[in-house]
Amino acid sequence: MPGNHLHCVSVPTAMTAKRPRNLILILGDQLSRSLSALADADPSVDRIVMAEVAEEAGYTNHHRKKIALIFSAMRHFAQTLIDEGFQVDYHRFDPHGAHHSLGDVMRERAEQVSPERVVMTRSGEWRLESLIDEWQLPVPLERRDDDRFIASIERFQRWAAGKKQWRMEFFYRELRRETGLLMNADGTPVGGQWNFDADNRRKWKGDPPAPAPFFVEPDPTTQGVLTLVAEQFPEHFGSLEGFGYAVTRRHALAALEHFLTQRLPWFGDFQDAMSDQEDTLFHSLLAPYLNCGLLTPMEVCRAAEQCYHQGRAPLNAVEGFIRQILGWREFVRGIYWTLMPDYAQENRQGNDRALPWFYWSGETKMRCMQQTINATQRNAYAHHIQRLMVTGNFALLAGVRPEEICDWYLAVYADAYDWVELPNTLGMVMHADGGVLGSKPYAASGKYIHRMSDYCRQCPYNVQHTTDEDACPFNSLYWHFIDRHRDQFAANPRMGMIYRNWDRQDRNRRSATIARAEQLLANIETL
Ligand SMILES: Cc1cc2nc3c(=O)[nH]c(=O)nc-3n(C[C@H](O)[C@H](O)[C@H](O)COP(=O)(O)OP(=O)(O)OC[C@H]3O[C@@H](n4cnc5c(N)ncnc54)[C@H](O)[C@@H]3O)c2cc1C
Ligand code: SF4
Repeated sequence: MPGNHLHCVSVPTAMTAKRPRNLILILGDQLSRSLSALADADPSVDRIVMAEVAEEAGYTNHHRKKIALIFSAMRHFAQTLIDEGFQVDYHRFDPHGAHHSLGDVMRERAEQVSPERVVMTRSGEWRLESLIDEWQLPVPLERRDDDRFIASIERFQRWAAGKKQWRMEFFYRELRRETGLLMNADGTPVGGQWNFDADNRRKWKGDPPAPAPFFVEPDPTTQGVLTLVAEQFPEHFGSLEGFGYAVTRRHALAALEHFLTQRLPWFGDFQDAMSDQEDTLFHSLLAPYLNCGLLTPMEVCRAAEQCYHQGRAPLNAVEGFIRQILGWREFVRGIYWTLMPDYAQENRQGNDRALPWFYWSGETKMRCMQQTINATQRNAYAHHIQRLMVTGNFALLAGVRPEEICDWYLAVYADAYDWVELPNTLGMVMHADGGVLGSKPYAASGKYIHRMSDYCRQCPYNVQHTTDEDACPFNSLYWHFIDRHRDQFAANPRMGMIYRNWDRQDRNRRSATIARAEQLLANIETL
């Protein structure tokens, strides 16, 4: 694509004199032609604004690949709109320019072109929605709902109303019925069950080999963005090397096809597996595209379903994959918009530990943590089980302050946006919401990591030991977590057995375990 077609402000002659009808703002995670703000857009009367601003790029320590992905995808999207005949006022990142925020940009543009109104699709983040509330524009602002999700927020709230507990599985089943995804004509689930989780817990031992991730050679637009990000964000987390993300819809669709062909058939079997050698195994790597709008959730679910019907992938894989999108993705969004802004302040376990520095540096002897954090630095990616059971589990066991670990997850992953990151981290990982998102914490000792990976073989710590000098930190920290939160969890029917096991242990052994954990916590930066 010719990068020089994208001007800061491009003004076709027919439009110059006329007052535009709508000035349409498109955000960096709204790169979908089906966006509600664009539904009635007409190049002859409407005008579009897109802006790379410091306020959005710099409000947290975003991974540099994440910034590059979003800026490049925005520039490509703007170009496709220009090619359709739209006039796009595109503001490139300029730290010395007058516009540090979207509010600045929109106020100035609205004053200059005097449209009848500003139109936008609601932002996906509470933070930005609150900033938008404060905008003082000279013309009315019309905010439209974001209908790119499978369920609206009202749909989630209708389902949630009056229920004592919100469990993803039941919301998911309703959405299966409503969409017909993997459903028989008589209303029963294909395969006779809703869920094939029990089949999806295999350890990966190298067979079949993990396919190389989908890769797109950066074009001149992306190369320009990579240079910009290297220059302007030198202190931000993560490496820009090997940038190969899709930044157009065409390439995102190719990434989807790559997943369906090369990974989906084994997605289920190895969904929970981790490997010391392979960063991504059989995961889809599609979240960055779904979350910035290059793909839509329904088209991805339908494509996976079709693979099942065509015999290209087994049911446990396809159902497992669809559940992540139709179930988890929709569910966490509903929780976010129903419980914000108070949700972000939750800290039901009263955690007060700072996030250890090794989350940013990767300098730790714990092999599982080191490999997960290093992959995160290189790729702006770690798969779900690494996020949940390694870096997340450690933060849970160590009692890290929720806001610090949430900020880390928001910064380091290319797919991270508040509406999806926050419930996953604060709720699923930290259990800081007291069980809104999950019925029990996903706390685990080193045994789980050992069972699902080969990290422990390369680790100086011994996963079989709990109290010795070389003992795996996860082991004693796990029991310390269980012991210190007895009041909160002992009555939980899903945790009774854990407490009985702990109480059955010899008193001296329990004391030694707690002492070891306390020594680790006192020296946490050296682990
Ligand atoms: C602590 C923590 C933080 C997370 N932060 C984010 C985040 O910021 N953005 C994000 O998209 N996902 C987040 N997730 C969920 C999940 O880990 C990622 O969606 C997934 O790893 C992305 O990789 P993938 O595309 O290869 O996913 P796959 O494993 O291939 O899954 C397919 C798709 O399902 C969806 N999905 C899977 N699990 C979840 C989930 N728990 N919640 C919502 N969607 C899900 C994603 O869209 C994903 O692309 C987080 C999970 C944890 C435990
Ligand atoms: S021994 Fe413990 S710290 Fe080391 S890799 Fe295994 S689980 Fe991680």
